[in-house]
Amino acid sequence: MNVADPIDLEVESEVVNPFRPASHWGFTLRLPAWLGFLDSDYFPSGRTAVMNLPVKSRASRWFPFIFLHGFALLALFYKPSAFALSLAVFLYFFRMFAITAFFHRYFSHRTYKTSRPAQFLFAFWGGLAVQRGALWWASHHRNHHRYSDRDGDIHSPVKSGFIWSHLGWITADCNMPTRYETIGDFSRYPELVFLNRFDWLPPLFLGLGLYALGWFLELHFPSLATSGCELVLWDFFVSTVVLFHGVCSINSLSHILGSQRYRTDDSSKNNFLLALITLGEGWHNNHHRFPGAVRQGFFWWEVDMTYYLLLLFRALGLVWDLHPVPSAVYEERLSSAPSRVRS
Ligand SMILES: [Zn+2]
Ligand SMILES: [Zn+2]
Repeated sequence: MNVADPIDLEVESEVVNPFRPASHWGFTLRLPAWLGFLDSDYFPSGRTAVMNLPVKSRASRWFPFIFLHGFALLALFYKPSAFALSLAVFLYFFRMFAITAFFHRYFSHRTYKTSRPAQFLFAFWGGLAVQRGALWWASHHRNHHRYSDRDGDIHSPVKSGFIWSHLGWITADCNMPTRYETIGDFSRYPELVFLNRFDWLPPLFLGLGLYALGWFLELHFPSLATSGCELVLWDFFVSTVVLFHGVCSINSLSHILGSQRYRTDDSSKNNFLLALITLGEGWHNNHHRFPGAVRQGFFWWEVDMTYYLLLLFRALGLVWDLHPVPSAVYEERLSSAPSRVRS
């Protein structure tokens, strides 16, 4: 039985809502060329030209990862206080929730509705995860669903191997531009485009905030035995690196390890362990079967913390119109009927 794939709806938005270079609020924000590196949309040779470059890793694009991992390794020589360690764990889940609930289930798949101020807050919250902007993240994820494990899928372990699907694809120049064509539904909001262009603002806020907090605690609560440097090392670098690999495991391991309930025409798997560490994203075969559902654990025994928290958000009035799993999809599983067929 075929059930409409909501991703297909996004194709229409390419036509009716093409990318309009930012001249929102009545003016165009352009930085001088020497500050261009601060703007994620700055491509001197043109955005389209960069997107059309060969799919190839560039050595210099590994530096940010080496930088992050280097400081995270440095932290391992520095025994953390109980406070720093607890905060690192909290920040892992606090930001994992933002990636799954907002970058993935909202900006990529529109599985529920919210207000304009809340969506800006969600984009900022997700930005704290240091995984670039919401529009960049979601536009590439939509690409993944459109071409799952076929030519055109930018991070398929089946097509390109584990390392490429996990991390390598982010080091290719052609994957740096935001694919605004596929996310016209959100790129019409100037505040979201601004946050996407200057995607280093939320991480900077987090880093400085952690340093200030550690400095304050060292001064006024010495019994906690913490400091600004410790919080930056453990709660920014270590927590961010672990979070990065947690999220990336869905691109890599979720297409390798686990079981398939639905016969999707890709290698997506359901994996309980991955669902635990990613707050529900490990039910990836379910998700590939029906990306438009807000829950990815389709059954009560499939733990999906993000879904439970979104139910709480709904009770608080922050989100609404949560899209359910269609009954046809449940029936399909029970009857073991073939899944959708791609054209
Ligand atoms: Zn996938
Ligand atoms: Zn998805």
